[in-house]
Amino acid sequence: MAEPEKPGASGAKVEPALARGSPSGRSPSGRSPSGRSPAERDIGSSAAVAPQPPWTGELAPGVITALSPRVRRIVAPNPSMMTGPGTGTYLVGAVNGNGELAVIDPGPDDEGHLDRVAEIGRGRIRWVLITHTHEDHAPGVPGLVARTGATSVGFGRRRGAGHEEDLVCDIDAPDGWSLTLEGDDGPVTTLRALHTPGHASNHLCWLLEQEQLLFSGDHIMDGSTVVIAPLDGDMTRYLSELERLKVLGLQAIAPGHGRLITDPTAKIDEYLDHRRAREEQVAATLEAAGAPQTVDEVVASIYTGVPEALHPVARYSVWAHLRKLGDEGRVSSDDRDDVSAAWSVAAPTARH
Ligand SMILES: [Zn+2]
Repeated sequence: MAEPEKPGASGAKVEPALARGSPSGRSPSGRSPSGRSPAERDIGSSAAVAPQPPWTGELAPGVITALSPRVRRIVAPNPSMMTGPGTGTYLVGAVNGNGELAVIDPGPDDEGHLDRVAEIGRGRIRWVLITHTHEDHAPGVPGLVARTGATSVGFGRRRGAGHEEDLVCDIDAPDGWSLTLEGDDGPVTTLRALHTPGHASNHLCWLLEQEQLLFSGDHIMDGSTVVIAPLDGDMTRYLSELERLKVLGLQAIAPGHGRLITDPTAKIDEYLDHRRAREEQVAATLEAAGAPQTVDEVVASIYTGVPEALHPVARYSVWAHLRKLGDEGRVSSDDRDDVSAAWSVAAPTARH
């Protein structure tokens, strides 16, 4: 799931611009009672929350785009405020060969989409891989397996309670697990699993080693900002995994939503800079307040003038940042797992 983006926009982030300067613009309008609003529940479940004008060109549903000699993308027909143009389903393996193919993220359980993916595969689809079990990425797995007889691969269920319904794949792939597609006398294709928790605890990125091309799922996207929603979402892990990806020498990133990213290092730096700036803003807001603040109070201070519809996403972001600052001992809370709890700047360490 992604934060919303307007169709046709190219690379434009829609996360509300930071309110610069002191947190003087606090407004009680940004506060909401504890508990999740309907919009928040929608975000949590990746459901569409608004009708979208049609996407066109390579990101229109059903359009097949060749991205490299081994990679084709077909966009699933699930565009929404939370999925941008829809989920990118990738077919990986020599385009002009006859060997095995792997599909990454079949997307939603949409008959027409799965029929089309199977048809493009021409009997060659042997593997169905997922990046994570959110409902815009994984529910198409059983349908595609039924159509192809392929073996499915994912990391396993998300950790913690409430994820008992997560899709279970045939193979649980730990970090470093790899797959070389067989049966082709053409170019070799190897996919390696990189466990990248942060957006989801069971998130995998898939590295196409021969092209240094990363299928980034929802860890990195084109045109939207990734939602980090506690408790399954974890900002500390999210950022450390971005740092790990940054030094892999990537040539390109094929995201779960949006276009191919051809400047991976710059994109990852942009992500890191954006999160660090937000983190410092959250910390500064808490310091300036001089009293314990709830997530909603911090949101109201930072996201001034931002439509109420985006506040649920902002709440998750602020909460995730506070939990990371808590990991580092900079702030504290009586109950970091409760979104309505108050947070304070940690008392300075006693000096001798
Ligand atoms: Zn997701």
